[in-house]
Order: sequence, then C-alpha cells, then structure tokens
Amino acid sequence: MLDLKRNSKFELVEATGKRSRNSSIYSPNQNEDFKISRSKFSDYLTCPRCFYLDRVVGLESPGTPGWALNEATDILYKREFDECREKQIPHRLFTENNLEHFIPFDHPDIDKWRDSMHHGLKARYGKSNIILFGGVDDIWINTDTNKLVVVDYKSQSSTKKVTPITYLSDVYKQNYKIQMDFYVYLLKEMGFEVHLEGYFVVCNGNRLADNFNGVMKFEEYLIPYEWNITWVDEKLSDMVDCMNSNFIPSGHPSCKNCAYARQRASFEN
Ligand code: SF4
Repeated sequence: MLDLKRNSKFELVEATGKRSRNSSIYSPNQNEDFKISRSKFSDYLTCPRCFYLDRVVGLESPGTPGWALNEATDILYKREFDECREKQIPHRLFTENNLEHFIPFDHPDIDKWRDSMHHGLKARYGKSNIILFGGVDDIWINTDTNKLVVVDYKSQSSTKKVTPITYLSDVYKQNYKIQMDFYVYLLKEMGFEVHLEGYFVVCNGNRLADNFNGVMKFEEYLIPYEWNITWVDEKLSDMVDCMNSNFIPSGHPSCKNCAYARQRASFEN
C-alpha cells in the first residue's frame, strides 16, 4: 500500500527508508538500556528478520492507517469501565457472566499502565539491558483472591458465531493470546499475582442488520482465556540473542511483502 512520508505539518518530505532517531536503533551488545514494546516482541515472533531490520539496522517500514472505529469502541469501553472503577462496582458484562466479584483495579498507576506510547506495564528482562513494556486495555481485581485480571477490548464485525472456542481458535486471533500472555508476564515480573484467566471484551458489529440509519448495533461477549507464560522467557532470550548478533536472520517464507520486494527487485535490476 502507498504510504507517503509527511512531517509534523503534514507536508510531503523525502522518504529515506531509514529511521532518524538513534534512540530507536539498537547496537549489538550495547550497554545502555533499550526499550522493546509488546508489538515489537510480537514482530520478532512473526519474523526475526523484519524485527532485526527495524530495531537493529534501523530500516523504517511503511506504516498502516489507524483503526479509527476500533479505537472509538476502546474509548467508549474505557469510559464505562472507568465509571465502575470510580464507584468500585463490577461492570455490567461481568455481572451478566456471574463475575460480580471482579471490579476495576484502582491503582494510582492505572493510567500509566494503559498508556502504550509513553509508559505501559514495564519490567526489565532478567539482568539484561532490555526494558519490556506494553500498554494494557484494563486491569480488574478478583476481590475473592486479590489476584489481578487482565482485560483486553476487541472489536470486529463478523458473521461467524462468537464463542470462546470459535473466537480463540481463529487463525487471525492467535496474536491476541500472545498479547495477553505478555501482559501477564509483565505483571508477574512487576510482583503482582494474576488470576488464571484473562478476558477479551469483544463487541461484534452487526453487518446483517436490515438498515443502517447511522447506527451500528453491537453484540457483546466476554471471552475467557487461560493464559500461559511458560514459553515467554525462552522467546525473549532468543530475541535478545538476535539483537546482539551481527547476522541478519532469515525471513518468513510465507511473507508476501518480501516476495513482492524480491520480484520487484528482479524486474528493476
Ligand atoms: S519476510 Fe516479511 S516480515 Fe520478514 S523481513 Fe521480509 S517483509 Fe519483513
């Protein structure tokens, strides 16, 4: 897709394909701390080559447009949950699912933890110089056990039936589980006890409605997910080894972007 580079005044500027901020580029075996976000870790899991070219070589890949409608539902859910946090009461979705003992976690840092751009949940990886972080959608507390519950909002518009099994087995949702596992990993590294299930708050826009009239109806679902962090340490260790290496890893054989770039280079040379 076409992605034109613009400056902060939205004027078109030359695209170099390289990052300009040195602080976002890692030098193998550097001593200074370096931050890796949840999404960059996810990039590493998908394709170590792309991750390396981005974080270590400093290539700037084309961006994708924002998800304005998804962002809007996130904001609306956040507003609802914050009202419950203020009153320290369960949200209607949890009450409907017999989980009235879950209430929003009222922690002084909750806004920082939800700020994926500037803070997020944060923990150093072992004794390394890598600081892991990720902005969580919300955190609740099980008042029976005092364990924290990770909550993630998701919006979609699908005609498929939404159940915990159909939702979590969808090939395009696997990354959601990784996301939840990563947040749980960070919370545990921060010293918190975490409830054995996280929850996806899913709203599904009805695209089969008879008419629109400027209103889209959503069905809501609470999808429990039994997290698993047993795999995380090993993958983080692999990622740090990759960052400290001077070799560029292989790409993903199914990636259309690399295949396109190869084909294009073969015609242009
Ligand atoms: S295979 Fe795809 S994800 Fe990997 S380096 Fe190539 S473009 Fe990036």
